[in-house]
Amino acid sequence: MTATLIDGKAFAAKVREQVAGHVTRLKEDHGITPGLAVVLVGEDPASQVYVRSKGKQTVEAGMNSYEHKMDADTSEADLLAVIDQLNNDPAVHGILVQLPLPGHLNEDLIINSIAPEKDVDGFHISNVGLLGTGQKSMVPCTPLGCLMMLRDYHGSISGMNAVVIGRSNIVGKPMAQLLLNDSATVTIAHSRTKDLPGVVKQADIVVAAVGRPEMVPGDWIKEGATVIDVGINRIERDGKNKLVGDVDFESASKVAGAITPVPGGVGPMTIACLLANTVTACCRANGLAEPE
Ligand code: NDP
Repeated sequence: MTATLIDGKAFAAKVREQVAGHVTRLKEDHGITPGLAVVLVGEDPASQVYVRSKGKQTVEAGMNSYEHKMDADTSEADLLAVIDQLNNDPAVHGILVQLPLPGHLNEDLIINSIAPEKDVDGFHISNVGLLGTGQKSMVPCTPLGCLMMLRDYHGSISGMNAVVIGRSNIVGKPMAQLLLNDSATVTIAHSRTKDLPGVVKQADIVVAAVGRPEMVPGDWIKEGATVIDVGINRIERDGKNKLVGDVDFESASKVAGAITPVPGGVGPMTIACLLANTVTACCRANGLAEPE
């Protein structure tokens, strides 16, 4: 390996420490405790793990965590009623509905029923529009974590060629928007992109958010490029369960200038950014200066 390892785990610990510091000040100076409500519908095992981890880290940062677990066959009306109650609860500053939702529920309708100022996932159409027009919004946690690591490593990414592989609403598109807002020259690649290896080869920054284990090999990557691997793929190798990214770390780390590992890269940053967004939402709700 010749690339510098971008240590998301260590960076996330730093972010969480800053969040905890803000929470302490909010409590001591203003008597306010930020609160994050997470709504989980159904029993998807991966979602259960994420929700548990979010709850634990919320409490560790000194905030209040509220969990709403609902049955897989919960009706849309019942879910909307819970969200309405959380929207109107002044102790709740952030609301997150864990995705994916069971198929009978309309995800867009549910997400857009969250009060935009409490939408700490940044998926509400108002926040998407605000981000798209460069205005103050709630920024989706995974792309925000990626951007923070890129800013930390590069200082400025202005003028750099960035290729985002994946165009989902939760990762690819907001990631591209954030890179654009930071004045990178951005290409979004997807399953219909022609000559993906050639497109990736142009990139000073590659963000892979595809959901295909180790799809991006080292020989697609320009020498010295920065590689951010968003993918979380569970595979079996040598009879063992393993987590791998969308990038073939082994070969890519020999060509890249810097690279995030999986696990220990983007993943921990995502939850840290969720906590940071909750503090931001709390400050905005109370007319207080928000953390930088
Ligand atoms: P989606 O499945 O919603 O989107 C995947 C995207 O990849 C699509 O835009 C799709 O293109 C594109 N794609 C699929 N196959 C190819 C291909 N062969 N060549 C080029 N593009 C392709 O996934 P998400 O955005 O939700 O997640 C992506 C990955 O990130 C997953 O591994 C997920 O687990 C991980 N993830 C990690 C998080 C973290 O905290 N670290 C958080 C969220 C996600 P098209 O639109 O044309 O179909």
